[in-house]
Amino acid sequence: MSPEKMKELLCKAVDKRAEEIKAIGRDIFAHPELGYREHRTSELVQKNFANLGIPYRAGISITGVRGELKGRASSVRVAVLGELDGLICPQHPYADPNTGAAHACGHNAQIAAMLGLAMALVETGLLSELNGDVVFMAVPAEEAIEAEYERKLLEEGKIKFATGKQDFIALGEFDDIDLALMFHSGGDEKKVKVGGTHNGNIKKFVQYRGREAHAGGKPHEGINALNAALMGLLGIHAQRETFRDEDYIRIHPIIIKGGDAVNIVPSDVRIDMQVRGASFQAILDASRKVDRALEAGAMAIGAEVEITNSPGYMPRVDCPPLSNLFRDNAVALLGEDAVGETGHRPSSTDAGDLSQLIPTIHPYVNGAEGSFHSSELTFVDEDLAYVMPAKLLGMTLIDLLCEGAKKALACKASYKPAFTKDSYLAAWEELVAK
Ligand SMILES: [Zn+2]
Ligand SMILES: [Zn+2]
Repeated sequence: MSPEKMKELLCKAVDKRAEEIKAIGRDIFAHPELGYREHRTSELVQKNFANLGIPYRAGISITGVRGELKGRASSVRVAVLGELDGLICPQHPYADPNTGAAHACGHNAQIAAMLGLAMALVETGLLSELNGDVVFMAVPAEEAIEAEYERKLLEEGKIKFATGKQDFIALGEFDDIDLALMFHSGGDEKKVKVGGTHNGNIKKFVQYRGREAHAGGKPHEGINALNAALMGLLGIHAQRETFRDEDYIRIHPIIIKGGDAVNIVPSDVRIDMQVRGASFQAILDASRKVDRALEAGAMAIGAEVEITNSPGYMPRVDCPPLSNLFRDNAVALLGEDAVGETGHRPSSTDAGDLSQLIPTIHPYVNGAEGSFHSSELTFVDEDLAYVMPAKLLGMTLIDLLCEGAKKALACKASYKPAFTKDSYLAAWEELVAK
């Protein structure tokens, strides 16, 4: 069968299930869960795999699920990813009142489209025409926003990394994967954006320790850890003019504990922080300046500071031949004017880590409206947000695996990984130790 015919059959099958796909997107949007606790969403994925007769494993990195469909030959293995987690955004209209979780980053669309593609591939039986396997991965915890909860899971040995794709890498779930496809929802002027790069980052957990005293009666006997922290933060701000535009440095701390009681001199102040940049070198340079400033705050007040670095995300790199396939399919369905380039994004994603190991694409598909990571984010075009990506991912998959999987093999050949899995794991150890 020609690739064009296969694409036509796939799109028809996706359209046939469109209402079901949109209902999944809506359902997950209304039931957001936080990283490594996406139990309901995980069960929804498992139920769909079971209904489709797709063999799967669950409980990977706590809530992750991995299903698999075999092709005519297993020349290449392609992962299609969807992220399970929401983030903390309590003002969001669909926020969970208990946890504050909300799908303010639109990951619900990824799961809906991934399952939509699975439905269409099963229904059409197209994989019997293709020289490769498809591995569906529902992956937890892309956002990595709960420093203390992540530390607890790490200490308990339940995870090895704070984000799901990193943990999947460490567990060996990507060892047998050649290429990875995913998308993120967008709300830009172009309906689809392809290619581009992302910042990486290092995470910092900062704890200032001072001495308690009566805040009204005898403050002179205390050591004010909050004042030390504030001086540390001011020191960071004073260095912003030293960051080069091309390095896209972003440093954004939040104080997660400011003291114990208003009438006690604060003795335990905690800060959660990410230091982002476009390259490892830039991140390390900014990270050293941040540490210096934080230490200076402690020194000024006579407090103590402990800085714990941990892996954030690696910068994302693109695989242009793979992105071009996705672009061509987007142009075919939506027209040239609807498709643009992502460019460099100063935000970060753990798709960055994956992109350093295997060819990975992370295009954007619209359908959402309102600022991402805010209570405004909502979906206004469900066909574009949930249904269209299933088609675009599926068409790209057909391109990759048809005709002896020659395009997949060409993408692999053009790609020079920055790391092996072992050198990747070692690199993170080294980066956070500096
Ligand atoms: Zn996201
Ligand atoms: Zn996000």
